[in-house]
Amino acid sequence: MREPVEHSGLPIAPDAYLDTPITGQVDGRPWRTTRIGFTEALDLAILLRTACLIVVSYLSGMRTGEVLNLERGCLSHNPATGIWSITGKKFKGARDEHGNKIPEGQFRDDPWVIVAQTAHAVTVLERLHYQRLLFPAEMHPHRGTHSTRRGRARHARGIPYDIAAFLAWVKDYCIATGRDHEAIPPDPHGAIGTARFRRTLAWHIVRKPRGLIAGAIQYGHLHVQMTLGYSGSYDSGFPDEHAYEDWLFRLERLAEDHERLTAGEHISGPAAATYIHRINQAHHTFAGRVLTSTSHAHDMLTNPLLQIYPGRAMTCVFDQAKALCQLRSGEGDVRATPDQDDCRPTCRNLAYTDRDIAALHQQATELESLLGDFLAPSPRHQRARAELDRLHALIRNHTRKP
Ligand code: SF4
Repeated sequence: MREPVEHSGLPIAPDAYLDTPITGQVDGRPWRTTRIGFTEALDLAILLRTACLIVVSYLSGMRTGEVLNLERGCLSHNPATGIWSITGKKFKGARDEHGNKIPEGQFRDDPWVIVAQTAHAVTVLERLHYQRLLFPAEMHPHRGTHSTRRGRARHARGIPYDIAAFLAWVKDYCIATGRDHEAIPPDPHGAIGTARFRRTLAWHIVRKPRGLIAGAIQYGHLHVQMTLGYSGSYDSGFPDEHAYEDWLFRLERLAEDHERLTAGEHISGPAAATYIHRINQAHHTFAGRVLTSTSHAHDMLTNPLLQIYPGRAMTCVFDQAKALCQLRSGEGDVRATPDQDDCRPTCRNLAYTDRDIAALHQQATELESLLGDFLAPSPRHQRARAELDRLHALIRNHTRKP
């Protein structure tokens, strides 16, 4: 029938339009003025699934596999406290009573506390399709009823492609609607995978500690130990804001240290091996864990894996028994911290990262220019010379091939 219809002169729409109303708005206006065509609905549904994945991943701090395996009905809300939470499976550390790995995962004892935006994304997904998993591999409602992908979760390998497609759509939309300034610029670090969302979340919480409070609880499981150390007991109420920020910053730094170590950062100094061990172990032990009790917080406060203190061109891998500086809060106290202002160059707790060595290079350059000043008094000159020799020795030791 195509040919006679096309030659009939009757107006023909290029698509079959859904009767779904356009309710989403941008700046108080409908996000589009035309109805959604049947042929574009599937692509838009996939983009919406990606948008929800970004919101859930970014604002919950969950791991990729945990997000992709969320199921319909996972959301709950406590009207008394106003807290939203999600129950789901964990895969990391999921083992049966014999210690065997459980590949299909295990339901976590503790739910994830989430913000309202994440809860909203979950409800959007529950309305978007009828499948059990919130992020299904197959989005078409009819296609592939016999497909092996049906009933399965979207594969993690596909997520960077989904995000790239989403970014491209946002860019096109911005250009088409005169919102070029809102287009998301290309990422200098390449394709975006969900693992980066966790770190970005921590970064934002540190700088806006009250902005994403449920997320902060998610990430701040360890921060409470700082509260214990800095502002009295856990029972004293809402955690001290400064300690809160400080601890989250530490958490972010731990993630960064681990990332750098994995990327091949070299560590030198007497505590180098301990540093590497602690960073790796702390990453595996603490990343993404939720605080469940005050005793839990206290355990974390004293955990030796977390006793790493970056300083000026040095890193203190703190072991109280070896410390040569004055300890803050006294010897024998499990919450003692090093006094880095009193750091001694011969301490066995010292380690140097590539970042520390870059800072040492900078210090050496400054000293060299000081030594070039012939008017400098002699004792000062000698002190500078001795310090420069020490810095050069540290740099040589760091760069020496094993
Ligand atoms: S002397 Fe320096 S390296 Fe040693 S414990 Fe104190 S701050 Fe850390």
